[in-house]
Amino acid sequence: MGNRLKDKVALITGGARGIGWSIAELFAAEGARIVISDVNEVLLKEAEGRLKSAGAEGIGIKSDVTNPDQVEEMVKKTVDKFGKINILVNNAGITRDGLLMRMSEADWDAVLSVNLKGAFLCSRAASKVMIKQRYGKIINIASIVGIRGNAGQANYAASKGGLIALTKTLAKELGSRNVLVNAIAPGFIRTDMTDKLSEDSQKAILSRIPLNRFGEAADVAKTALFLPGAESDYVTGAVLQVDGGIVM
Ligand code: NAP
Repeated sequence: MGNRLKDKVALITGGARGIGWSIAELFAAEGARIVISDVNEVLLKEAEGRLKSAGAEGIGIKSDVTNPDQVEEMVKKTVDKFGKINILVNNAGITRDGLLMRMSEADWDAVLSVNLKGAFLCSRAASKVMIKQRYGKIINIASIVGIRGNAGQANYAASKGGLIALTKTLAKELGSRNVLVNAIAPGFIRTDMTDKLSEDSQKAILSRIPLNRFGEAADVAKTALFLPGAESDYVTGAVLQVDGGIVM
C-alpha cells in the first residue's frame, strides 16, 4: 500500500466492476477513501466487501447516474460520510451497438443518457462541492472511439466524443476554481463490456495494436492514478489515450 492519495476522497461511478473497480482498488491501495456507486446492488455489496477485506475505508452507494435526484443524493451521502470530495471518476458506461439503419431510438437514448448525461449530472453535483473546497479533480472515462469514430457504435462514439467536449468545456469553466477536468480514452480493454465482441472482431482489433496485446483494467487505473495526484496539478482539459498505440 502506498500513500499517494492519503486524505483524498474519491467517488467512482460504475465502480463495482471492470475499469471502475480497478480504479477504486488502486486508489484505495494508495490511501484514498472510496465511494463506489453503481446500479447493481449485488455487485456493489461484493465490491464493498472486497474494499473492506483489503483494509480500505470505503462504502458503496446504489445510484443511477441518469437520475438527477439519485446523483444529488449520492454526492450528499459522500459528503455526509467523508466531509468532502476530492476526486470524481465518471466511469459508468454502457454499449448498445448496431449499425445506424438498425439502431433504435431507445438504444441511442440509453447510451447517451448513461455515458454523457450521467457525466454531466455527476459533474454538476460534485463540482458544487469542489468549487467550495477550491479543489477537485474530475476524471472522465471516454474512449478512443470518441476520437476516431467506429462503425456500429454511432451512439457510443457520439457519447464519448461528447464526453471529450464536456471535459474540455468544464476544464475551461472550472479552472479558475482549481477544479481540474481531464479525460482518459482507453482503447480495447478486457472487461465484461468487450467480452461481448466476437472472436473475429477481437482478432481484427489485436492486429492493429502496436503493443500487440489488449489492455487490462489495471492499465487504465495506473494512468488514472496520475490525475488526482500533485504530479498533474498543471494538467487540465487533456485526453490521455491508454490504447497500446492503436490511435495515433
Ligand atoms: P463494465 O465492465 O460494463 O462496467 C460498467 C459499470 O457501469 C458496471 O458496473 C455497470 O453496472 C455500471 N453502470 C451501467 N449503467 C449505470 C448507471 N446508469 N449508473 C451507474 N452505474 C452504471 O464496463 P467497463 O469496460 O469497465 O467500462 C467502464 C468505462 O470505460 C465505460 O465508460 C466504458 O465506456 C469505458 N471504456 C471501456 C473500454 C473497454 O475496452 N472495456 C474501452 C474504452 C472505454 P451493471 O453491473 O449494472 O451493468
